[in-house]
Amino acid sequence: MRTENDIVIIGGGIIGGSILFNLLKDGFKGKISVFEKKGALSDESTALSAGGFRNIWSTVVNMKLTSYSIESFKNFKEETGISIGFEQRGYLFTYYKNEWEKIVDFKKFWDESGVRTELLTPEEVEKMVPGLKAGLEHLDKDIIDMLTIEEIVGGLYGTDCGIFNPTACAIAYFEKSLENFGEIVEINKNKEVKKISIKDGKVDGVFLESDEFIAAEKVIVAAGAFSTDLLERSGISEEQNIPVVPIKRMLFLVNRPPIEGFEKIPMVIIDNGVYFHPEADDLLVGRAKEDQKPGYDYDMEKNYYIDEMNTYMQARIPGMEYCRIKNGWGGLYAVNTLDENAIIGEHPDILNLFLAVGFSGHGVMEAPAVGKCISEKIIRGYYISVPEAESLEFKRFREGKLVKETIVI
Ligand SMILES: Cc1cc2nc3c(=O)[nH]c(=O)nc-3n(C[C@H](O)[C@H](O)[C@H](O)COP(=O)(O)OP(=O)(O)OC[C@H]3O[C@@H](n4cnc5c(N)ncnc54)[C@H](O)[C@@H]3O)c2cc1C
Repeated sequence: MRTENDIVIIGGGIIGGSILFNLLKDGFKGKISVFEKKGALSDESTALSAGGFRNIWSTVVNMKLTSYSIESFKNFKEETGISIGFEQRGYLFTYYKNEWEKIVDFKKFWDESGVRTELLTPEEVEKMVPGLKAGLEHLDKDIIDMLTIEEIVGGLYGTDCGIFNPTACAIAYFEKSLENFGEIVEINKNKEVKKISIKDGKVDGVFLESDEFIAAEKVIVAAGAFSTDLLERSGISEEQNIPVVPIKRMLFLVNRPPIEGFEKIPMVIIDNGVYFHPEADDLLVGRAKEDQKPGYDYDMEKNYYIDEMNTYMQARIPGMEYCRIKNGWGGLYAVNTLDENAIIGEHPDILNLFLAVGFSGHGVMEAPAVGKCISEKIIRGYYISVPEAESLEFKRFREGKLVKETIVI
């Protein structure tokens, strides 16, 4: 193992992979070592995600980061020769009356920003998702009251959105980096970074679990939901630490309903944030659990699907009651509790400490752009491809310039 580095990247997920790949692609010539605590790359949140991507957001920075990333996913096979299961099948958000008016008003903003969207009537929503009932006539009043659901009055369809395989993408970033730049890249698995070494307000390397010291000029934290604890172990004060906590989110793989055409539906978001998309012959279903407490909890709670997700699906798509769970898992969101957006760039107090953390459930879809941004910041000193990325730096918390995103799932 090399002990002198220009850059150490902590974390072998899609964010660490994209940073490595982009630095090399942009001509960085120094030595880079990656440290991943697990025995395999992409074995945490990246592998446990739903693999959805969308450029429909309320903030310009998220629209820009995801639009850049979608282009990059689209060209990935041509660029690397590796397929990442890129499918631009669209995202369909459905709305009740009170929210719909805001969406109609917002359409102008997406048009101006180059984000392609279509507003759909309830009939068009029903056509796009066979079996879905926009109205409530088929339901008893007590069910409607219990679920507090309303009639769907419109749909927002994002043409360029879709799904991909984040693990394939992350692994490809690492493999291609090693293949093309093996003389300057080292990827270490089963090597946990115990703490980052900081002297006189400046990073000088990392200590591994074994207490071995690895010298580095710059250190990049891409440790996902574990980043806050790592920074705390490194002696960073609470005030200097990132406002990010691990929060479990669950996904369930269930039988697809036997409805003709259902295999072609986009990613669909219905009542109370239940979302689903076809995954091979099955359906992948998710929904945030409202009272989920922070912590390293990965348990799959079958009853949560049965009692609080499937009930909405049954009500909206009669026939869904027969869709049994085939598999399921819990994974960690790295939730930025202040504004639910990523924190990227150099730490304002610690020289040469770079952050790419706090993605709050939208990290895989921002990975290509974030990797590019960090690379530009390190090599050139500023952001070129997505200049708005500056607004996501840590300093925004001190300056009171939170980037509030309202379209989160
Ligand atoms: C259920 C679920 C669904 C999701 N769906 C989507 C979606 O549809 N679209 C989307 O864009 N995002 C989604 N996300 C969020 C997405 O998965 C994350 O934002 C993204 O994976 C973050 O990538 P990462 O590389 O930062 O984190 P990770 O993939 O978690 O990688 C971090 C790596 O760092 C390693 N590590 C941690 N600490 C250390 C240490 N001290 N030393 C060495 N290594 C360390 C970890 O082992 C891990 O491999 C979802 C997440 C979950 C849980």
